[in-house]
Amino acid sequence: MVYCVLLGLPGAGKGTQALNIASDRGILHISTGDMFREASANRTSLGLEAQEYMSKGELVPDDVTISMLLERIEEDDAASGFMLDGFPRTIKQAEALDIALESSRKQIEVVPYIKVPEDLLMARLTGRWSCPDCSAIYHTVTKAPEVDGVCDSCDSHLLQRSDDQPVTVKTRLDTNREWTEALATYYEDQNKLRVVDGTGDPYLITERIISVLDEIS
Ligand code: AMP
Repeated sequence: MVYCVLLGLPGAGKGTQALNIASDRGILHISTGDMFREASANRTSLGLEAQEYMSKGELVPDDVTISMLLERIEEDDAASGFMLDGFPRTIKQAEALDIALESSRKQIEVVPYIKVPEDLLMARLTGRWSCPDCSAIYHTVTKAPEVDGVCDSCDSHLLQRSDDQPVTVKTRLDTNREWTEALATYYEDQNKLRVVDGTGDPYLITERIISVLDEIS
């Protein structure tokens, strides 16, 4: 049984690692981003409200987010442990989570923080290019075209989406770094933070996180 929060900036591989760890440990993976996207697709009142903020790239207000998450962790499938991905994102959310867990004599036990150097994050996040004609997708780090900037299948010039352009990515990283670092300090003060090297093969990163979890069980 393990209750944990996973921290990491965009591009650090947090979503993939959360899934790997949850399946390795047989615990529930809870992503508040996925919950909001599902609510929005189902057009529930929560989903419609959340969508207004998500479409502007803003955080959904704390009261809505906290009550949704606290209800979710009360469900039966969360009883044997969970890994939170994308929650908390504010100190108020972290405090609300601590108070709720304490009332059922539980607590967050460990907070792995996947750290990746800034230049590598930028390379991962700005590397995506697509073909406007045949929609093929490339990545300069993981799936580069044979000729730089040219589609392998149809020879068209590849384009970069505005979200993937360096200026936009830098702003996104800066905003995320602000709240991620604040939460890292919050959990460090509770002696729960464990920094994990997020470079190298994904399976190695999974192993590093597993050894952090092993320390507490
Ligand atoms: P994610 O997939 O984690 O990047 O989340 C997608 C979007 O959902 C975010 O940009 C926010 O608008 C919203 N969201 C997810 N988790 C939270 C949270 N803990 N607090 C506030 N908003 C959130």
